[in-house]
Amino acid sequence: MKVLKFGGTSVANAQNIERVKDIVSGMGREQLIVVVSAMGGITDLLLTMASRTSRQDVAYKAVLKEIEDRHLQAIRELLPVGSQSAALSKVKSELNVLETLAEGSYLIGEITPKLSDKIVSFGELFSSFIISEYFRSEKLDTSFKDSRELLKTNETYGRAAVNFERTFANCHTFFEHSKSQIHVLPGFIASSENGNSTTLGRGGSDYTAAVVAAAIEAEELQIWTDVSGMYTANPKIVKQAMAIPHISYEEA
Ligand code: ASP
Ligand code: MG
Repeated sequence: MKVLKFGGTSVANAQNIERVKDIVSGMGREQLIVVVSAMGGITDLLLTMASRTSRQDVAYKAVLKEIEDRHLQAIRELLPVGSQSAALSKVKSELNVLETLAEGSYLIGEITPKLSDKIVSFGELFSSFIISEYFRSEKLDTSFKDSRELLKTNETYGRAAVNFERTFANCHTFFEHSKSQIHVLPGFIASSENGNSTTLGRGGSDYTAAVVAAAIEAEELQIWTDVSGMYTANPKIVKQAMAIPHISYEEA
């Protein structure tokens, strides 16, 4: 079994998601676990929305609208007309839950770390759901699995610590019995013993993929990204940054 992780830029829009599908279908018939981030920019938008509701700034509604539009547009572009309506109504009803959470925060003018994690978890939930529906519509033998049912953590919201024993046991049991060729999982999100949504820290989808790969002793973990390799510095900040052709684990 191989684990493939695709980051926010790789799943930022319908066009990029189509390329992800090409990569996945090009891997042949072997069993794959595909871990995805939220669509690029969505986690930031969710956090902006939450900070506005906590300041009782009604402009949070514009951010919510943008989040809504990005996902509904992706569904319309990716899914054939016949299967759009089921996916649209599922995502719309989840968007209603998100809206209710935002309204609650707005009314009391507060955002707790617990509520913040619940709110940001929607980014990965939406992307993974849309991608798995799209794979299915492209006749890939795919099922969706909510990572919160596999990854168990403590309740340090925003940067929860994984309970490896529980998580590994859950992954073993689930992947041993599941027959689908491809499993699509949301990165970044997990849940506590009490069933509350938690997150693994910004950029945590890589970590989700690594934890799942370790749990099932995957033959390979592939982290797909929009930068062609490792750079001497963040190329978005440092113009002279160069790609490093080879690097050891220690140096990295
Ligand atoms: N969506 C989360 C973030 O933006 C996790 C990730 O992309 O890995 O931090
Ligand atoms: Mg990342």
